[in-house]
Amino acid sequence: MFTKILIANRGEIACRVAATARRMGIRTVAVYSEADAGAKHVAVCDEAVLIGPAAAKESYLKGDVIIAVALAAGAQAIHPGYGFLSENADFADACAAAGLVFIGPPASSMRAMGSKSAAKTLMEKANVPLVPGYHGESQDPDLLQREADRIGYPVLLKASAGGGGKGMRVVDRSEDLAAALASCKREAISSFGDDKVLLEKYLQRPRHIEIQVFADTQGNCVYLHERDCSVQRRHQKVLEEAPAPNMPPERRAAMGEAAVAAAKAVGYVGAGTVEFIANQDGSFYFMEMNTRLQVEHPVTEMITGTDLVEWQLRVAAGQPLPLRQDQLTMHGHAIEARIYAENPEKGFLPSIGTLRHMDTPDAVHFELGGMAGSTAGGVPASVRIDSGVREGDAISPFYDPMIAKLIVWGADRTQALARMGQALAEFQIVGLATNIAFLKRLVEGQAFSSADLDTGLIERNGDTLFPPVTPTPVGALALAAMALVGGEHTGASDPWANASGWRLNGNYQRTLAFSDEHAYDVALTYRAGGWRMEVDGVASDLTLAARDGATLSIRLGASAMHGTVRRDGDLFHVFTGGRHYTLTYHDPMAHAGEVEAVGGRLTAPMPGKVVAILAQAGQDVRKGEPLVIMEAMKMEHTIGAPSDGVVEELLYAVGDQVADGAPLLAFKAA
Ligand code: ADP
Repeated sequence: MFTKILIANRGEIACRVAATARRMGIRTVAVYSEADAGAKHVAVCDEAVLIGPAAAKESYLKGDVIIAVALAAGAQAIHPGYGFLSENADFADACAAAGLVFIGPPASSMRAMGSKSAAKTLMEKANVPLVPGYHGESQDPDLLQREADRIGYPVLLKASAGGGGKGMRVVDRSEDLAAALASCKREAISSFGDDKVLLEKYLQRPRHIEIQVFADTQGNCVYLHERDCSVQRRHQKVLEEAPAPNMPPERRAAMGEAAVAAAKAVGYVGAGTVEFIANQDGSFYFMEMNTRLQVEHPVTEMITGTDLVEWQLRVAAGQPLPLRQDQLTMHGHAIEARIYAENPEKGFLPSIGTLRHMDTPDAVHFELGGMAGSTAGGVPASVRIDSGVREGDAISPFYDPMIAKLIVWGADRTQALARMGQALAEFQIVGLATNIAFLKRLVEGQAFSSADLDTGLIERNGDTLFPPVTPTPVGALALAAMALVGGEHTGASDPWANASGWRLNGNYQRTLAFSDEHAYDVALTYRAGGWRMEVDGVASDLTLAARDGATLSIRLGASAMHGTVRRDGDLFHVFTGGRHYTLTYHDPMAHAGEVEAVGGRLTAPMPGKVVAILAQAGQDVRKGEPLVIMEAMKMEHTIGAPSDGVVEELLYAVGDQVADGAPLLAFKAA
């Protein structure tokens, strides 16, 4: 076995790999960019080496630099994690040339599967079922148009080198193909450096079911059952679970065997995932093989009681697979939710900022020494968190905005669902927008809880997943009010004795102004031992029963309430009843003299690069018409006209880097 490995990654996966290495007595070397000097993965590894500036291209993607660091540190192997260099066959070759073990499949398997088009040709030969489509060499636009017309709409355009849901376009009509092709190729070249595309029939209501496979250098190859990753947004996984609901054992075996056949066809070694797209009737087709560890591997670990990183290290060191196919059993049900710094209400736009507070549910923190699949007693942990960030860390525009993976295990799906709902309710984050409330609605919603799964679940259930904003309940307002003024009286029953806020001159009354989408005036009148609170003409008695830091217990009228209130500048984050309310406090003293920003300008929703400008100065445009396309965090974001109007001036050119909030163009509404 190795005595020292280098981890060529960052974030949660780097921390997760380090944890297994430590448990196995292997030393770890972290690499990091300038943006990550204080990052968690640097702290959890035994050694760490700075490899370059923040941009991944200049740091985490610098294979030659990473190899030099590994050699200098005396590491014998490199674990690439997922993303970055994990599916880069040239990097695997370079490792071998330098005498280092690349912890992953042979470069030849990666090349065979690296192009979705070439992989399909190989799978066709191995009799693995394929979605009807076109995956030929020629990229002639006329030919692609003819092929798309032949396949029949809707058609899905995919970047052949794509991954992570990027570089895909659904085309509903023949006349839309050319524009979608241009946009797909643009994203493909900027994200993957290769603009080759393939076409597939776009299936209706499909499920995404993938099989975890593992092969060693002795010719053994097994499958560790399936994961259902149907719940997606923009073709990106949101929830993953194992096993797949309603999977008959015969189909599990058939898919497992097809996956093993796919792996064997490319001489696979190590951890891999064969992704299938399945119709509701159970028929399934090969989509692609990911030649690395997947983000969602923990759900497989939970139900099989394995540590897949340990398996990777053993196989890379030349050992046989720890278990045979007939020894691989399944126990219970596991669900993973990806907690992201993003804004589901704004099209899942990433949210950049600092994690001012992060309170997590009781869980096994993998990177702190928790076991992957099971505890020493053989029973899986009920809640596991894999995270690459800590309270106080920043989510930067340079990398994936994932905060944590929350994984739960239950004896069955019902128990796992209940645990997920509970754990999400206890996950409290302040400082950035997150998808936690959205995930909770998703997990508790009818469609997911009844396992009515397909990749369109989120879009179809928009009404319940994005409910209209309702006014903040009076209990949450009372908690915010007590967080603000409640402390002013603890220990002092007499308001006259306190100088802050409740003064002489009959000033027993105070009105606190809060707002979210609504405005609230909370009128408080102090009385011995408590308050009278009035909101919207409704009055109740309010007392602060107990306070422990940010945690408050109050009595409001006849009910007792409990919650946590975190203040972040003017923002009051109230966590109560499993929900998170964000209220802005309007301090009458704080903002004297500020002016409102001038309107009429469209601003960058996040820092990024302008990749296309679709309007000209002086042009009349209609509401919603795309004006500028920005690329940020490897994804394209289209900025559309907010109303009918005229583009008065363009402030940037294609290729320009734009700061968060910078005006992109001057616009005059009609
Ligand atoms: P990536 O490599 O970017 O993850 P995939 O080829 O794995 O791309 O596809 C990602 C997702 O896109 C799938 O999980 C599925 O939801 C959807 N998808 C892919 N191919 C099809 C198809 N032919 N019809 C319908 N949906 C598809």
